Amino acid sequence: MIRLHVEAALAAEQAIDATPGQAHYLGTVMRRSAGDVVRLFNGRDGEWEARITALGRGKAVFTAENLVRPQADDADVWLMFAVLKRDTTDLVVQKATELGVSALLPVFTERTNAARVNAQRLEAIAIEAAEQSERLTVPLLHPARPLHEALADWPADRLLFAATERAVAPPLRAARGPAALLVGPEGGVGPRDCALLERYAFVRPVSLGPRILRAETASIVGLALLLAPGCG
Ligand code: SAH
Repeated sequence: MIRLHVEAALAAEQAIDATPGQAHYLGTVMRRSAGDVVRLFNGRDGEWEARITALGRGKAVFTAENLVRPQADDADVWLMFAVLKRDTTDLVVQKATELGVSALLPVFTERTNAARVNAQRLEAIAIEAAEQSERLTVPLLHPARPLHEALADWPADRLLFAATERAVAPPLRAARGPAALLVGPEGGVGPRDCALLERYAFVRPVSLGPRILRAETASIVGLALLLAPGCG
């Protein structure tokens, strides 16, 4: 079953234009044709069965037919992660989306090597992972910014579990209520960032066990724990 994310509103009989990329995917990659059925979601109106009513070079039109899954609330867990090398950043965005994170906040830390991220590329990865994992939403991707800025306008009612290696900290457990995980870069969280984190009451240091995990592993494991079924 092909599932595609669209921006447009979804309602019965609603015609929706595909992006050129979606048209290419449907016609050339997946060899679909007009008359075939796909599923569409937009993060607001649930998941719809839709028919391809026109398909040509770089152009396709869907017509929404039936609601197959009503919109449901997502778990409310964010991931704040130090930007990594390109491939590992891509991996973190993909896996975090599959695991059900509701927002992604890339940050530059004291020991971050990268100076920028390609937001468009990360957005495309998140959309594809949401399509593939049967989510009804795409996580909100925040613009990358320095850690101190992200902390300065943090919502005080959201706990930020800071994954801290080589320190005595309680183990991370499933969250109740709004929560977020913070994972540092390849080189770990530096002393200046540690001092900064200590200033905020919403920051809770947590351990992911006795071994030193790679940053991408820490994101995956931490989110799996925070989003454990029945608790999020
Ligand atoms: N190079 C560093 C390790 C960095 S690990 C060193 O040798 O000390 C990258 C990030 O993963 C860390 O900043 C932390 O957020 C997370 N992490 C890795 N292992 C962890 C663990 N056992 N507990 C909690 N966080 C961990």
